[in-house]
Amino acid sequence: MILQFDALVLGGGAAGLMCAMEAGKRGRRVAVLERSERAGKKILISGGGRCNFTNRECRPENFISANPHFAKSALARYTSADFIALVEKHRIPYHEKKLGQLFCDRSASDITEMLERECAEAGVRLFVNARIEEVLRTTEFVVRAGADEFRAPTLVVATGGLSIPKMGATGMGYELAQQFGVAVRETRPALVPFVLAARDRERYCDLAGVSAEVLASCNGQQFREKMLVTHRGLSGPAILQISSYWKAREPVGIDLAPEGDVTAVLREGKSMRDGAALKSELQRFLPQRLANRWLDQHPPSGWSNVALADLERNVHQWEVVPADTEGYAKAEVTAGGVNTDELSAKTMESKKVPGLFFIGEVVDVTGHLGGFNFQWAWASGMSAGRAL
Ligand SMILES: Cc1cc2nc3c(=O)[nH]c(=O)nc-3n(C[C@H](O)[C@H](O)[C@H](O)COP(=O)(O)OP(=O)(O)OC[C@H]3O[C@@H](n4cnc5c(N)ncnc54)[C@H](O)[C@@H]3O)c2cc1C
Repeated sequence: MILQFDALVLGGGAAGLMCAMEAGKRGRRVAVLERSERAGKKILISGGGRCNFTNRECRPENFISANPHFAKSALARYTSADFIALVEKHRIPYHEKKLGQLFCDRSASDITEMLERECAEAGVRLFVNARIEEVLRTTEFVVRAGADEFRAPTLVVATGGLSIPKMGATGMGYELAQQFGVAVRETRPALVPFVLAARDRERYCDLAGVSAEVLASCNGQQFREKMLVTHRGLSGPAILQISSYWKAREPVGIDLAPEGDVTAVLREGKSMRDGAALKSELQRFLPQRLANRWLDQHPPSGWSNVALADLERNVHQWEVVPADTEGYAKAEVTAGGVNTDELSAKTMESKKVPGLFFIGEVVDVTGHLGGFNFQWAWASGMSAGRAL
């Protein structure tokens, strides 16, 4: 069957639903083609099932892209306050957890239901279990899916990134970009735990579950948050954040006692200069097991002030060289993607291929942890929705 629309949206995730909703409200006949059996599956598992749907303090510095200016226009034209207003219109209860991060009180399904309702009211047609076999551009865009052929003058690619293939992630967005001659920047897993090298795994990973507040740094960026030891390496918000800036074989700096002075008491002669005193000082900053283990692996070279100052430096700049990340299977997002030079910052439309749009995670814009990735999905989706 041939089905004619004004716009086809490939992918019924956060960005696709937002875009479809807006275009539908503006009177466009919109079809969303979603591969899974339902839309918004990633929203449902997000934020531990409560969806950290935005961040009150959303700034361009919270996004990573080869062009750090690209996201500014979309983020300014659809702000976190705009999304909060939509959430409040639907009387969805929410709360701020920390650092401006907003979560649903009840469940992430409040957000998917809100988007589905808005889409339905705007007359958007949602086709689930869609198996897209072919996308062509003749006088208009043609999408073949099973026995159906969808046609429209505009096509929006909102198929997301490669993270969590189990949830339906595919590389279709990047393949379509290539098919239409739109450049793609190399992708990599981001917001992802680190796997430690075998030697470090032996040293630390039996402490799995132990966490501490640290300052993690890499490539001029730093994040002060919790770090968690896992069975294979390191995770926790500080590590996830810094992973987005990490490149293979580079060291990550970990300050185990941010703003603390671990050896002061020993240096100033207020306590004995011995292993027990040192351990008890480090335990003021780290859980006992981690403090003891770290000192077993990094004993002071002596008890002179110089040796203690050396140790102090090590505590604040513990250099870890991860063997790898846990990859797309455990990454919250995909960094890299459709090159922003190819797109209009106002509408997300391809500069080369009129009528072709890319929105959400498939684009080379990656947010920090804390609701920023959804805010990018809403804002970029809205930008395209207003232009269709
Ligand atoms: C475990 C987890 C937790 C997260 N928690 C948060 C959070 O709390 N806050 C936050 O801001 N971000 C969070 N994120 C990131 C956030 O989910 C994504 O950045 C966001 O969903 C991206 O939106 P999108 O619409 O671009 O892609 P997606 O939401 O991934 O949607 C893409 C859609 O396209 C569909 N699709 C893919 N390929 C095809 C195809 N070939 N044909 C048809 N359809 C296709 C997919 O099934 C999917 O429904 C989390 C991510 C993960 C994995």
